[in-house]
Amino acid sequence: MKILPKKSLGQNFLIDNEVLNMIADLGKINSNDVVLEIGPGTGNLTEKILKKKPKKIIVIEKDKNLSMILKKKFNKDVEIINDDILNYNQDIFYNKKIIIFGNLPYNISTKILTTWIKINNLNDFCKRFVLMFQKEVADRILAEYNSKNYGRLSIISSWKMEIKKIIDINPNCFFPAPKIKSSLLLFKPKNKYYKLENPKNLEHVTNIFFNQRRKMIKKPLKLLFKNYEKVAEKLSLDLNLRPQNLTNITYYRICSYYEKLLN
Ligand code: SAH
Repeated sequence: MKILPKKSLGQNFLIDNEVLNMIADLGKINSNDVVLEIGPGTGNLTEKILKKKPKKIIVIEKDKNLSMILKKKFNKDVEIINDDILNYNQDIFYNKKIIIFGNLPYNISTKILTTWIKINNLNDFCKRFVLMFQKEVADRILAEYNSKNYGRLSIISSWKMEIKKIIDINPNCFFPAPKIKSSLLLFKPKNKYYKLENPKNLEHVTNIFFNQRRKMIKKPLKLLFKNYEKVAEKLSLDLNLRPQNLTNITYYRICSYYEKLLN
């Protein structure tokens, strides 16, 4: 059957053998591991994962046509779920540590990532994530404070995850070749991270700050706290700084203050 890649589903299939092998190796899969692959497409990466002989492979593919092709190709070796990954939260994790792979559809990649980060005890569910992003998004995920790409995504991602860039990937490693470069990232859930009551509050707080990223932080602080001067003093914040000058830890502390206020 001929496959016509669907743009609407972000279908750019990885075809470079070296890159596919590298991704599978990064999973450090052993025979007890359960692996989840998001958006397996034509199954190029799935094949490489299968060679590592994990205990189980589950794939979630939204495209019905591709799911049928995968079923034919892998038969009983792979559990194929024809569904939208966005319909799943914690329940896909089966209370067992799993390894997640995904050459993610670019239009929903950050949504998937932030959904996972909101899961309680993420480190109980996941060993590691090997994920492909468009380079521009990867740069925002990895950005440190005082840099232009630093923002909500960097602060929220690094809250619960250790993140490492493995390599940038050229468009010609995919079919069809996308217009942009991609980056391969490795994520490991942290065992210890700053305790917050609800990740939604961190989203809210960072939203208030980075909605006006060029303004001095006095303005967003005022929006969040009536007694903003006291909060600034407690957290030793210089009110003339801009949102990008505050470290991620500072944002977690601001969020923690905000949560106390809500109670
Ligand atoms: N991993 C494959 C394909 C990457 S393209 C490879 O590297 O070759 C992205 C894949 O994600 C496509 O197969 C697309 O159909 C699938 N996809 C898109 N949106 C999805 C969603 N919401 N849930 C699950 N799969 C999705």
